[in-house]
Amino acid sequence: MKILLVEDEEFNLVVLEEMIKIFYPKAHISTAANGKVAYEMLKTEIFDLILSDINMPEMDGYGLIEKIKKELLLQTPTIAVTAFAIQGDKEKLLLAGFDAYISKPIDMNELQPVLQMYLGDSS
Ligand SMILES: [Mg+2]
Repeated sequence: MKILLVEDEEFNLVVLEEMIKIFYPKAHISTAANGKVAYEMLKTEIFDLILSDINMPEMDGYGLIEKIKKELLLQTPTIAVTAFAIQGDKEKLLLAGFDAYISKPIDMNELQPVLQMYLGDSS
């Protein structure tokens, strides 16, 4: 199983990666520092799940989801990881094409069911 994490803050990236490894120790986790880097990777690589920050330089999460849905035409489930998960933003995220969202700081109890929904049980 291949997972792509898109996040411009190194600390957040490491934390998220370590959390995912707890649930899916065998997962192949790739990282991208912003949407533009992720977009380039997605042109050639297939992932089972994408988790993306929203606020990033070069290309933000909204720019990335637009590329994923309208240009790359990928069906890959894409989860927004956002610090500003207030109600209006949640709806905006879903309308933009994200399948789900989790809020920062990431709570393991919130992350686990989302991973389970899109990746199934660990193997
Ligand atoms: Mg950010």
